[in-house]
Amino acid sequence: MNANLFARLEASIRDTGKTAIVVPQGPTYTYGDLVALSGRLANVLVERGVKPGDRVTVQVEKSVTALALYLATLRAGAIFLPLNSAYTLAEVEYFVGDAEPALIVCDPSKHSGMVSIASKVGAVVETLDPAGNGSLADAANGVDAAFDTVQRGADDLAAILYTSGTTGRSKGAMLSHGNLTSNALSLIDVWRFTEDDVLIHALPIYHTHGLFVATNVTLFSGASMVFLSKFDADQILDLMATSTVLMGVPTFYVRLLQSTRLAEASLAMRLFISGSAPLLAETHVDWNQRTGHAILERYGMTETNMNTSNPYDGERVPGTVGLPLPGVSVQITDPDTAAVLERNQIGMIEVKGPNVFKGYWRMPEKTAAELRADGFFITGDLGKIDERGYVHILGRGKDLVITGGFNVYPKEVEEEIDAVAGVVESAVIGLPHKDFGEGVTAVVVRALGSSVDEAAILGAIGDRLAKFKLPKKVLFVNELPRNTMGKVQKNVLREQFKELYSPQQTAKVTAHG
Ligand code: AMP
Repeated sequence: MNANLFARLEASIRDTGKTAIVVPQGPTYTYGDLVALSGRLANVLVERGVKPGDRVTVQVEKSVTALALYLATLRAGAIFLPLNSAYTLAEVEYFVGDAEPALIVCDPSKHSGMVSIASKVGAVVETLDPAGNGSLADAANGVDAAFDTVQRGADDLAAILYTSGTTGRSKGAMLSHGNLTSNALSLIDVWRFTEDDVLIHALPIYHTHGLFVATNVTLFSGASMVFLSKFDADQILDLMATSTVLMGVPTFYVRLLQSTRLAEASLAMRLFISGSAPLLAETHVDWNQRTGHAILERYGMTETNMNTSNPYDGERVPGTVGLPLPGVSVQITDPDTAAVLERNQIGMIEVKGPNVFKGYWRMPEKTAAELRADGFFITGDLGKIDERGYVHILGRGKDLVITGGFNVYPKEVEEEIDAVAGVVESAVIGLPHKDFGEGVTAVVVRALGSSVDEAAILGAIGDRLAKFKLPKKVLFVNELPRNTMGKVQKNVLREQFKELYSPQQTAKVTAHG
């Protein structure tokens, strides 16, 4: 049997006339159209010299042609390598040098810069713009749509996705056809996707969430998706009447909650799914009160696809990421000794299963350091499993604050601060401190019109947390820095406030109250 994801997908199509993708104010693509477009593009890839196992680097804006290029790359047996469209040419140069692709597809505006980068690795460059035009699309016009999907094994690579790399070099996570296919099938089952579903797709397609979770789940179940170029709250509210599922990052839900139309607009929806960053328990509760829907939060990462999900039928517990997916094992280990910990003990989250990647591209040492011989991947997230088996995430390992020798899990402090009246949200970080090593510091966003201050916050949480966990200082900002997937960039905050406890800065802060 051909384990190529596309071959499995094509074999599962029951009706080629069924709508696969709708572009508002644009064309509609049936499953047949999508197969044909991917076939034409696959023929172009082969004409350009792309062979099975070659990398195809793609840095373009979101479009259906870009998605069809992902499918075409799989069909040609090559490895799809999408890049964040916000990366500069200087950043792209690192990825191209590391991955040595045979073909690069970029926005026409980047063509000349890309050609000089490509020449260093002998790659061919084609262009594709947000409207689906460019040299690649031109080449595909008039080309035969028939293409024999290349035979692949389950362990052959389908894609390389670079991690966002907030510290050190970005690493290319190698994902196989088996990784992607097994995860898609498992999510369809757990989330009850059927061909009657209509997904609102407002995520970027260079990231695991929008590319694999949203797309593979929709296409494998024969469902349809409405393809939006970006998040637009009004447009999404309008679409809810004719859609069934929304997959979003937490910021989507926070923004949608600001609309007075939400309760009515969401009536016909079946399911709201959140992931890629922590969903505040408060957002979960507010959403439930306003819409009657409990947001289903799940947990995954570039290297592992999805690991856990709150249940479809059982209780969706706010502040947790639910239970391991079928076939996935989750364990919590002591970060120092690697001993497996008991329920409710906090440690490193490790996962194992058919979803876990094959390692980091050309980084055997990093792979060996994070992927244990027994198959468990050390995620870098800290968390615990409670007595009911629900997984709780307490932050990235590198965000753990160690103050005076004590471990402080930022999330525990953030939850207390977020519950104070007048606080919208907070980020707790450790900053260099002469006496304590790191000083627990809270960076807080106030609600509009609120005058909540440091004293009020410390007063409210003072008797709820052990003294060593209390922030030494509370800072206020208008908003927390976030990346496109809605993750708070604590590294940016640590950099911005790194001098906070240095003697001069302390004097300055004190002088100004
Ligand atoms: P990425 O590889 O960009 O998908 O980032 C993966 C990381 O996002 C994980 O290791 C977690 O730290 C975080 N993450 C993903 N989903 C959740 C979630 N539901 N709650 C908290 N953190 C999450």
